[in-house]
Amino acid sequence: MDVLTGRTALVTGGGRGIGRGIAERLARDGARVAVHYGSNEAAAKETVTAIEATGGSAFAIGVELGRPGDAKALWEAFDRQADGLDILVNNAGIGTSRPLDEIDEAEYDRVFAVNVKAPHFIVKHGLDRLRDGGRVINISSGLARTAAMPDKMAYAMTKGALDVFTRDLSKVLGPRGITVNSVAPGIIDTDNTAELLHGTEDGWAQASAISALGRVGVPADVADVVAFLASDDGRWITGSWVDTTGGSLT
Ligand code: NAP
Repeated sequence: MDVLTGRTALVTGGGRGIGRGIAERLARDGARVAVHYGSNEAAAKETVTAIEATGGSAFAIGVELGRPGDAKALWEAFDRQADGLDILVNNAGIGTSRPLDEIDEAEYDRVFAVNVKAPHFIVKHGLDRLRDGGRVINISSGLARTAAMPDKMAYAMTKGALDVFTRDLSKVLGPRGITVNSVAPGIIDTDNTAELLHGTEDGWAQASAISALGRVGVPADVADVVAFLASDDGRWITGSWVDTTGGSLT
């Protein structure tokens, strides 16, 4: 399939986990992919190498998010290697937070800075790079719609805020033919969930039982949904929250 040939995509946090799955899938569909990383340059370069090995095109850009000026720095790095963007996937995120009685202000500020403020300003400063007819896809979480894990409340709150961003941004960018959607995974097997899935003997079995489909998700389960929204077939979906939890909310 070459449905994205001629398009350029940027996947934040594209070196590992769900982001890597998305970067590889969009490249397989023909897009040239900017694989962004925060600190793990080796993982991002490995993703680029894997994409190139299968005939795709990609490049890595490294900028730590959650700091003042992060979005502008990201676009400066992007501009050195590409000329305009068609698909922006805001995937990079801190995947957890401590419970209410343990979290301090610094952790709260950090998780909001990376998960909410960074996507907001990446979009703001990317508006003149993003071409008409493009796509913005924000990686949310099932936890924005269930209180199943209240110990991760601040994290869940960031995804709720991201979903409001998705909703309102769809109205702002709609006149330019740009769609904006949230894709909300359930439990996916990544570094972020290693402790949950492997930290106890029955962690994997308990996580599997949450999904109506009886298994833990893999990055490709999310990437395939992102690829659909990024393609022309997804043109009439905007402002949506796409449940990608494998039936974990039912
Ligand atoms: P992961 O394996 O922990 O990877 C996180 C990615 O985000 C990495 O690529 C990391 O970059 C990047 N990142 C984190 N903090 C950053 C920062 N301050 N600056 C720049 N980059 C940063 O996470 P994942 O499980 O794939 O999750 C990806 C997204 O899906 C997140 O938004 C997460 O909230 C969401 N999600 C995950 C699950 C799940 O079960 N795994 C479920 C629902 C939603 P480096 O590689 O450079 O460290």
